[in-house]
Amino acid sequence: GRAWDITKVRTTCPYCGVGCQMYLHMKGDDIVGISAVEGTKANDGRLCVKGRYGYDFVRSNDRLKTPLIKENGVFREASWEEALTLILDKMNAIKKESGPDAFAGLSSARCTNEENYIFQKMMRAAIGTNNVDHCARLCHASTVAGLATTLGSGAMTNTIDEVKDSDLYFIIGSNTTETHPVIGMNVRQGLNKGAKLIVAEPREIPLAKQADLFLQIKPGTNIPLLNGMMHVIIKEDLLDKEYVNSRTEGFEELKEVVKEYTPEVVARICGIDSNDLVKAAKMYATAPTASILYAMGVTQHSSGTEGVMSVSNMALLCGNIGKYACGVNPLRGQNNVQGACDMGALPTDFPGYQKVANPDVIKKFEKAWGVSLSDKKGLTATEMFEAILEKEIRCLYIMGENPMVSDPDSNHVEHSLKECEFVVVQDIFMTETAQLADVVLPATSFAEKNGTFTNTERRVQLVNAAMKPIGDTRLDYEILIDVMKGLGYENSFTNSAEILEEIASVTPSYGGMSIDKIQEDGIQWPCLDKDHPGTPILHTEKFSRGEKAIFKPATYRPAEEQPDEEYPFIFTTGRILYHYHTRTMTGKVDGLNKLSGHSYVEMNPEDAANLGIAQGEIVEVSSRRGKVNVEAHVTDTIEKGVLFMPFHFEDGKANLLTNAALDPIAKIPELKVCAATVKKN
Ligand code: SF4
Repeated sequence: GRAWDITKVRTTCPYCGVGCQMYLHMKGDDIVGISAVEGTKANDGRLCVKGRYGYDFVRSNDRLKTPLIKENGVFREASWEEALTLILDKMNAIKKESGPDAFAGLSSARCTNEENYIFQKMMRAAIGTNNVDHCARLCHASTVAGLATTLGSGAMTNTIDEVKDSDLYFIIGSNTTETHPVIGMNVRQGLNKGAKLIVAEPREIPLAKQADLFLQIKPGTNIPLLNGMMHVIIKEDLLDKEYVNSRTEGFEELKEVVKEYTPEVVARICGIDSNDLVKAAKMYATAPTASILYAMGVTQHSSGTEGVMSVSNMALLCGNIGKYACGVNPLRGQNNVQGACDMGALPTDFPGYQKVANPDVIKKFEKAWGVSLSDKKGLTATEMFEAILEKEIRCLYIMGENPMVSDPDSNHVEHSLKECEFVVVQDIFMTETAQLADVVLPATSFAEKNGTFTNTERRVQLVNAAMKPIGDTRLDYEILIDVMKGLGYENSFTNSAEILEEIASVTPSYGGMSIDKIQEDGIQWPCLDKDHPGTPILHTEKFSRGEKAIFKPATYRPAEEQPDEEYPFIFTTGRILYHYHTRTMTGKVDGLNKLSGHSYVEMNPEDAANLGIAQGEIVEVSSRRGKVNVEAHVTDTIEKGVLFMPFHFEDGKANLLTNAALDPIAKIPELKVCAATVKKN
């Protein structure tokens, strides 16, 4: 097209939690290109391959364009009126017969803050239940629970921009360059300036090659590793005593617990050299500034919450929280998973982590919303599927999530969705989950909506509509407001800015947020009032749960399922650069499919040789829960006895094999470790 036909609309990338600022280049209602916004805090002119090229899905022919109703097992097109009438008849009948707790809702880490706010308000105010959750349960529920206990806020303590200025990075359980590419670029920038890097990972990820020290630990051994490092730091007297004395509680208990974790003991559990452990501890403790970056390699375990607490213990021990270029930095996966948590799409929390268990909070929201509210703790996403099978839940409402591919033990999820009496799915594509719904409602993509996303560094940024909704699609919040009205609850919102005003009025950490205020570079929460500048670094003076942070020592509990004769391998999963989550969006982008179009299993050359498996051969990988046929990628980046699969693909689905064993505190499933086997076909 001619350059003068093109308009540029600034918005926020719909993929990962970095929240890059980008321009959509629009020719009418077509996106013809994407470019990065220069000079912003989150990405300063940079984008990764997904953000730059991954936009074909917006105009894909596969977009849902009309409501669909299932009749005798087959979907037929319907009008909005017909679909909504059916939904409301059914929902009102179930509510009358079985009460509000017969409903459960999954909100979406891909939808805006405003949509998430309305979703949880629908579940709580219009239906009357706290059974609302979203896929953070599968990625960072243990971060939210763990850091809230030790520090008071379950979020990244520092900013993305500062990452480039650290003297040392300790990266544990994060394949940063592939999953958060722009943060990975900041790490590389720091390394070029002479920063040191320690990587602790079961696989030799790309950054491991650049590391000063690479600890190739066995999957599921983060806690002993961290305890071992703290053991050395205390023994060698490298802790920050003044910080520990003035800003923390519980040091004596920590000291007692980590006493047992000598380098020799830890080396044996983790499968590493004890000298490397000592070296890592000394490097971390003596660096002037040290930033810990972690992701699902820490969180997705049956001891995930304790793993997160152990990360925070180590940072506190060295006085590395509340300071520039330091911190504990959980990297959130989806573009708005931070926001979906912040907005109260959680069974125990209203917006801003105000607790359902607190009677004053209930009173506050009853007054704000003008209804009486349930103070009963809701079910988590992982518990909802059980409750369906037990006939406690009769209606499941899902907005923009695909548990059929993302959740562990998919056969069980499928069984549960099929058993559920009434399932409504609101999405942009006919996902594997939508296939099992009774009614499917077509929603709009990020390019067609206004609102805000909150990135992994707590920065609330604008999403701006670049085109009108395609086909007969409608905005998610508009659909929800109609459903709420049909359930007898009226809202007066006419646009997303008005929803943000209500959010600010009931959520202290978002108290000063408004569309005007976040225009330029967004604002990081907490932002308490309209004159507040936002908070780049958390806990500079005190901790949000009280004056002091708390050490919460953890002891090593092996993963629930261990290799045995029948399933002799440790099986682990993760993400790759070219795809995003369950590929509902990236799977519609030809270029990305060409770069990586199908599932595979990584295995060590010795294991492959022992089993007579050749590079590229199709092999059968199985666990107690299922089996898949995928291509063998034989590589020495993975240790003997360990298998890895990316979790993105429906065909060759890693989650048919994973274990749904739950962390007792956060109820996050153990997606990172189970026992499996592999054989020639
Ligand atoms: Fe989008 Fe994340 Fe890539 Fe930035 S780093 S362009 S937010 S996917």
